Amino acid sequence: MAGYDYVIVGGGPAGCVLASRLSEDPVVRVLLLEAGPRDTDPYIHWPVGFYKLTSSTKNAWGYRTAPLAHVDGRRMWFPQGRVLGGGGSINAQVFTRGHPKDYDEWADKEGCAGWSYADVLPYFRRFEDNERFSDAWHGTGGPIAVSDQISPHRMSKVFVRAAQEAGLPYNPDFNGARQEGCGLYQVTQRSGRRSSAAIEYLRPAMRRPNLTVRTRATATRLLVEQARAVGVEYVERDARSRQSAHADAEVLVTAGAIGSPKLLLLSGIGPADELRALGIEVVHDLPGVGRNLQDHIDVYVISELCAPYSYNKHTQLHRQLWAGLQYYAFGCGPVTSNLAEAGGFWYADPNARSPDIQFHFLPGSGLEAGVTQLGEHGCTLNSAFLRPLSRGTVRLASADPLAHPLIDPNYFAEDYDRRMSIAGLRLAREIMAQPAFRPYLRAERLPGPDVQSDADVLAYAKQHGKTDYHPVGTCKMGIEERAVVDPELRVLGLDRLRVCDSSIMPRLVSSNTNAPTLMIGEKAADLVRGVVQRHLAAPRELQAAT
Ligand SMILES: Cc1cc2nc3c(=O)[nH]c(=O)nc-3n(C[C@H](O)[C@H](O)[C@H](O)COP(=O)(O)OP(=O)(O)OC[C@H]3O[C@@H](n4cnc5c(N)ncnc54)[C@H](O)[C@@H]3O)c2cc1C
Repeated sequence: MAGYDYVIVGGGPAGCVLASRLSEDPVVRVLLLEAGPRDTDPYIHWPVGFYKLTSSTKNAWGYRTAPLAHVDGRRMWFPQGRVLGGGGSINAQVFTRGHPKDYDEWADKEGCAGWSYADVLPYFRRFEDNERFSDAWHGTGGPIAVSDQISPHRMSKVFVRAAQEAGLPYNPDFNGARQEGCGLYQVTQRSGRRSSAAIEYLRPAMRRPNLTVRTRATATRLLVEQARAVGVEYVERDARSRQSAHADAEVLVTAGAIGSPKLLLLSGIGPADELRALGIEVVHDLPGVGRNLQDHIDVYVISELCAPYSYNKHTQLHRQLWAGLQYYAFGCGPVTSNLAEAGGFWYADPNARSPDIQFHFLPGSGLEAGVTQLGEHGCTLNSAFLRPLSRGTVRLASADPLAHPLIDPNYFAEDYDRRMSIAGLRLAREIMAQPAFRPYLRAERLPGPDVQSDADVLAYAKQHGKTDYHPVGTCKMGIEERAVVDPELRVLGLDRLRVCDSSIMPRLVSSNTNAPTLMIGEKAADLVRGVVQRHLAAPRELQAAT
């Protein structure tokens, strides 16, 4: 059995950060296992490649959800990265962190000492290399480039004007003193190319002799002896030969919100009755594993444009050639677009403690898998309710480690979530109806003018709702009985085993989830190394904002 100090399972954003940080010490031997291939596909690196990646099965797992009880039994397409860089290699590059109160609630209401916003802000700043901001909220010089968009589409700017007309203030920085408002998103790009943890953290670290990275290597079981994790069993490529790697110090699971609970369950760590029913030997009865799944569900408005103003015109070959020329000769144009260019944060619940709706505006239709494409030119406004009360599960379908798990985000299980999604869609329609859009729009096509009552809007949301790609929470951090890891990310009741990725979030943050996961990776690295982060002074505005 090959020996290392740390074996890390899963080369997504959190795994890449950890592998890089831990191997900074040349005497520490680190192995990173990633089930997917290397991130060599050009669509990963061209920002606009996002439109291909949501339907990919080459760089993603090809999951569908279980039949969704509150969404008419639909089985939703559920993209999740399976490639070096994980979701960070296929995502829309939107850079948002959530609201300070999200983290303060982790600390105050979930018992996660050390995870308040003042505690985690230094880690957000540590990974950030912001092109425009340098202040108490933002970092510069970190590995991940956070940039303004090079060539935002004119319809995205029209959206920003329309949102202001609907009452949302213009906000140049969703990650600063104030989250609410509308604007163009900053994106994780460097010079018009994707900036992911695989590119920025892992690639330079791979030159180190003490870091071994195995791709197309799927962990099938954690090896546990006398309540102590000692290594990982995995299969490579053809899945024929089983291998194992020994961890002298710790095993770190970073397989994401679906992969991490799946691996724990396969290893006999989880709800005992559920494991026994599948014939899996119970190693440690931990009821919370795979529970507490949370995700944002997107409900969208699609409007028809009165002229070919959308990105859909780039399906024509001569336009693609022109876009390619613009990109390679001048470093600009549609290839630099992350597609979800504009958006904002606003309120569905008038009593909400902070914005509870997020918008993503896309100048096109059908740009993401599962979203209707109009025959004519269209544009899409996604609205997502940000703090759902519904909780779902990740469970094993069988004891076969290569079988897909049963993923049930349980969208719309709670009446409150249904009402807030309906309100979010109404806000989206209101924005699309503003004067700024009038010269460009012919008519709303979806939901369409006939869909007006709450019951009809909900029926539409069930028919067309889609994942916003933010599953979290399935190895919940905390101190109560459904917790899986403690605030130092150690699996409760077992030694030398941590989970360090998006699955540990006790509550879903009010935003996209890549930046929060990078923060978790950075903080996890310090926890593993035993480094106590000396907090930078919290910005003065932090007090006011929280
Ligand atoms: C299509 C899409 C669009 C998104 N858009 C945005 C956005 O614009 N902005 C934003 O902030 N966030 C976005 N996100 C969310 C963000 O990318 C995720 O929150 C983030 O990637 C989570 O990181 P993670 O490290 O927890 O897990 P993952 O990214 O899921 O990485 C886990 C890795 O572990 C590997 N793995 C799993 N099981 C095993 C195993 N048994 N053995 C070996 N390897 C394994 C997987 O292949 C994967 O590479 C998007 C996500 C998706 C999928």
